[in-house]
Amino acid sequence: MIEENLNNIRKELPPEVKLVAVSKFHPLENILEAYRAGQRVFAESRPQELQKKVEQLGALEEGKDISWHFIGHLQTNKLKMVLPYVDMVQSVDSLNLLSQIDSWALKNPLPDGRPRKIRVLLELHIASEQTKQGFVEEEILDILFRHELFKGVEFCGLMGMATNTDNEEDISSDFARISSFMEYLQDLFSELEEFRELSIGMSDDWKIALRYGATMVRIGSAIFGPRQP
Ligand SMILES: *Cc1c(COP(=O)(O)O)cnc(C)c1O
Repeated sequence: MIEENLNNIRKELPPEVKLVAVSKFHPLENILEAYRAGQRVFAESRPQELQKKVEQLGALEEGKDISWHFIGHLQTNKLKMVLPYVDMVQSVDSLNLLSQIDSWALKNPLPDGRPRKIRVLLELHIASEQTKQGFVEEEILDILFRHELFKGVEFCGLMGMATNTDNEEDISSDFARISSFMEYLQDLFSELEEFRELSIGMSDDWKIALRYGATMVRIGSAIFGPRQP
């Protein structure tokens, strides 16, 4: 079932768009099933769960080349449960979190002694729900104007979550907003060579996100089925 779901999504996904399989609340067996079907990038949203899965996988022969992304709200006292394991934090949603990630990276060079740079996406608040996380545009501009101060961080782009609705026009207007802001930032900060990822689109709206320049889609339930919290 998981393999079939993956294949159906891949059929419609342009080759340059990265599929991030959101495995939160799903057991390791499901991750391995997707892995055996060729999936390599997975995302988790809770530090404890991520750490547990990475440790469980460490004891196996399989899964050594999985690339983990973090996509949930990250509390600054949990950085060490997340940052050693992930290739990207997609959900940077406050200046404090960004600064703490930066300091952590500077204090924790790579095992071979090279400096560590944590790849991050800045989360833009685009949904109508006030409860959702993320920066407003001005805050992201303020940060990027000072990007040189964050030596432990690689700014790789933007992440956003559309309003939770069936109304396609509302979703489209959320994605249009982040998409045009992304273009604006890429023009303004052309020196940021890695700033090219636009992570938009989940199980119910990824096809819409493709029309607005998504370079990454984050898909959970359409691959693994409903979550059992
Ligand atoms: C859970 C989650 C997803 C995946 O949601 P689905 O609707 O199951 O695809 C994507 N992005 C974020 C930030 C999430 O928390």
